[in-house]
This record gives sequence, structure tokens and C-alpha cells, in this order.
Amino acid sequence: MTLREQTSPAPTPTAIFSPVSPAPPTVSALPLPPGRSSSAAGGSKTIIPSSAEDPGNAKKGKHHHDDIEEDSSFPQPKLRLEIRDLNHPGAAKFLGSVNAGNVVSDAVANVQRLLYGSPKDRHTTVPPTRSVTLVLRDMDGVAYTTGTDLDDDHKEIHLSLRYINDISTPRLTSEVTGVLTHELVHCYQWNAKGTCPGGLIEGIADWVRLNCDLSPPHWKRETSGKWDGGYQHTAYFLEYLEGRFGEGTVRKVNEKLRLHKYEPKPFWTELLGRPVEQLWGDYVENVTGEALKC
Ligand SMILES: [Zn+2]
Repeated sequence: MTLREQTSPAPTPTAIFSPVSPAPPTVSALPLPPGRSSSAAGGSKTIIPSSAEDPGNAKKGKHHHDDIEEDSSFPQPKLRLEIRDLNHPGAAKFLGSVNAGNVVSDAVANVQRLLYGSPKDRHTTVPPTRSVTLVLRDMDGVAYTTGTDLDDDHKEIHLSLRYINDISTPRLTSEVTGVLTHELVHCYQWNAKGTCPGGLIEGIADWVRLNCDLSPPHWKRETSGKWDGGYQHTAYFLEYLEGRFGEGTVRKVNEKLRLHKYEPKPFWTELLGRPVEQLWGDYVENVTGEALKC
């Protein structure tokens, strides 16, 4: 999780003379070994590795915390694309609408920036996601994200070819990018050791999508229901909190979800000084007031 490593050898006792200098220790700033190939079972037709591996921060033998260049990029996951049915019309639509390598690596960068600020941010901790495999296949629904059999640091995003095929052409690029950005959040967000309400998990994912200007036209601020209705319903609420309590509020929410199991009262009171129901009430009032002004 933290990227600290042994960066210097144990001091050599001066009394011992070593006639042959041992090779200097090799230290890599890359916290993770290269992703092992998770050759997924069953009929993959295409695997296109991305060029995102090893972002150039693997300088040898040097790792100072004040080395700006070295600390200026987040660890990058190995990215893979697997198209399980290249004959599906959705596959051609996908490949024609986005640059597959760029769309995923850009989404990773956006998620890292919005949820973790910068690699030097001491108040956030990026999860050790080692690889993300985008699997395009014929299935119901839109998309989902899961850990792989190998371990939970290797993620798979399954995106429906049927869904892609049904997107109208003018919306194709934005919708595919938006859905992938949402799913990439699931590869990188904390979940309070599995106890975070699903609505907050989905709300954070759509908050990132919203902040990447990838919100679909039907999204709007809603005041019905509860704060954790999920998706854009909760995303706009988080956006309100970000505006009210300052930039980085959602980052703090995410970081708190790393540290503790979720208990509604202390979670929100410690973070923002009030219970979430009260904040939701303020939000509803705010949205209603804005609507009246129009
Ligand atoms: Zn989701």
C-alpha cells in the first residue's frame, strides 16, 4: 500500500575491506512487480497490452522523497483489452469510437487525480491496483468491475458489447468513456473494508464521471429519496459537499473509507461536523432554492 522500500543498504563496517565491490543495490520506485499475465480462460480473441506499463519512474539506485520527478506520477497499472467476440457489432463500434489504450489510461489518470490529488498528497493513499483488464463481451446490463481470481489487486471491467451496440452514434464516445471512467473508480476506491453503503460507492463513481464532464444528458439533481440513492443522485450531493466544504472533500470521504468500517454517525460527524441526513436536508433546500430562482 505505502510505497516505502528499503532504499539504502545496511552500512558497511569500515573495518572490512571488500576487494570486489558488490553490485550496487537496485532500487525501483515502482512499488509493484510487473503484472503477471492473467491469461483469462476461454476464447479471447485479442489482447492488446497498453503502453502504460512502467511510466518511467523506475530510476535505479535513487529514491529520495524530495525527488520531484520521481514522485510526480502515480503508479500505473498494467492495462489489457480482451474482446471476447470480435464479430459482435458492438466490438467494431467500440474500436471505432475510442482509442482503446488512451481511453483507459486517461480514465485511470482522472480517477487518480480526483480521488488522490497527487502522488505526494500525504492525506490520501492509492490502493495497490496492479492491473486492469477491460473485457468486452456479450452480456446483459451495462458493465461491472470485479477482482480477478489471482487476487483483488488485479481488476476486470466487463463491458457489454450489446450495450455498446445500442448507444446512439453521437453519444458513443462520451458514453463509452463515461462508463469506463465510472468502472475505473471501482478499481481505485476504498470501501470501508466492505461495509460502505452501495449508494455511496456508486455515488463516488458517478461524481468522478461528473467531474470529467462525462455526464449523460439525462442526469439531473434530484431531491427525492435518501442521500445514498446512488449513482448521479448521490454524485450531485457529493458535488454539493465539495462546493460547500471545499475541494478535496470527496477525497477525504474516500480516505476515511480506507481507514475504518462505515458507521454513519461518526463517519459524517467527524468528517463534516454534522449527520449526513442534515447535510442532505441542506442540499435539498439548496437545490429547491436554485430551482425557484430560475
Ligand atoms: Zn458502479
